[in-house]
Amino acid sequence: MKKFGFLLFLFVIMAALPNGADASSYSAKIYLDGNPLKISSDVKVENISGTVMVPIRVVSENLGYSVKWTKATQKVTVLKDGTTIEMVIGNKTAKINGKSATMTMAPILRGGTTIVPIRFLSENMGHDVKWDNRLKIVHLITRTTGNDGLAAINGISFSDNRLMVAVSGYVNPKVTKLTNPDRIVIDVANAKFSDKFSSSNNLGTGMNGTLTVTGNPDVKQIRYSLFSNSPSTVRIVMDLNRAKNYTLSGTQNGSSVFIVDLNATSTSPAPPPGAGSKKLVVIDAGHGAHDPGAVSSSNRREKDFALALALKVGKLLERENNIDVVLTRSNDTFLELRDRAKIANNLKADAFVSIHANSGPSAASGTETYYERVSSVALANTIHKHMIKATGLKDRGVKYGNFHVIRETTMPAVLLEVGFISNKNDEAKLFNSTFQNRVAESIVVGLKEYLKL
Ligand SMILES: [Zn+2]
Repeated sequence: MKKFGFLLFLFVIMAALPNGADASSYSAKIYLDGNPLKISSDVKVENISGTVMVPIRVVSENLGYSVKWTKATQKVTVLKDGTTIEMVIGNKTAKINGKSATMTMAPILRGGTTIVPIRFLSENMGHDVKWDNRLKIVHLITRTTGNDGLAAINGISFSDNRLMVAVSGYVNPKVTKLTNPDRIVIDVANAKFSDKFSSSNNLGTGMNGTLTVTGNPDVKQIRYSLFSNSPSTVRIVMDLNRAKNYTLSGTQNGSSVFIVDLNATSTSPAPPPGAGSKKLVVIDAGHGAHDPGAVSSSNRREKDFALALALKVGKLLERENNIDVVLTRSNDTFLELRDRAKIANNLKADAFVSIHANSGPSAASGTETYYERVSSVALANTIHKHMIKATGLKDRGVKYGNFHVIRETTMPAVLLEVGFISNKNDEAKLFNSTFQNRVAESIVVGLKEYLKL
């Protein structure tokens, strides 16, 4: 029976492949919006005559489309967000909401598994698809704007003389250095501001806004606007106090953040942050803008504490010769949780620290540190050990917590609840500058110990 099954299997493969087709299969690597999908190791991505094919279970389990199989007619129906795609095994003609469309390769049935062309499916379900032939990776990028095909700007932040722009979709920013007055202009064609960005930054009808930069010798301010409608172009202008060179990085394959770095001393490309022997640490100040986080009885907000402490940690890390630091936000701006994780993932950071203050019954007090993945426990233990000494508050321990930013990041990542903003005594300390300095130092000591620096 075994032998017969194998022969039948071979026969089905040979029948399914077009004559002379070059077929090769790889362990599945599919990235959705820059993050690898968790696909079981037995799932293979195949490239059949230039068409990338994947088992239908990837489509249902990993992409969340609903899939229906009608055995009698050999029909696969895929549904998502009001779009229905019908495909028949061996037939290159599909139906999208009842309308015929041609696929480069018909779906294949092999050993009970249906294999479908991922590009055709995903593109018609609102993703852009890019196949990285060298690394054998399928990149799926969510089109945030229905079918207008525009990339969306999700966040703009500035820290450590680096402008970081979080985007969904492919962009090819054009950067120009201008004088009189000195400024750097970044034009992102075929892009717009995401709805969330527009509303959280109060862009208004003029679709423009400003990022305030304080105390920076090089940069006066950063302005951004929807500069043109045809094609839709977002323009970001860095108004400078003096001429600066820049390097642009992070615009390749599926990157969801690009960086204009003013730290370059010449026009030759600078290494990306964290390159060489330097370690890269991402510090994430929780909440921001319209999201205050927890609010104390005297109306003090978690987002302000988180930012103050993050800026202090950032300042201390900047002094370290072996550490590069990137802040997810360096002012009162809002980022989605996924964008915070993406910044760290795309930069391939060595450690990620998210800063928060706790909230609970008024008697609850103390310091706790969260990890989500086993690979983060050592970092959590090391920072916590130093941080409890610095806070002097009750040691509530190192704990597991299923928080997005420490779950979806790909490097050791911790979330710090430094103290309870809902507790009078903790609150007074959290907003005390000397306390913040001490805690910032303890976080840096913990990071350096963990990174063996
Ligand atoms: Zn929080």
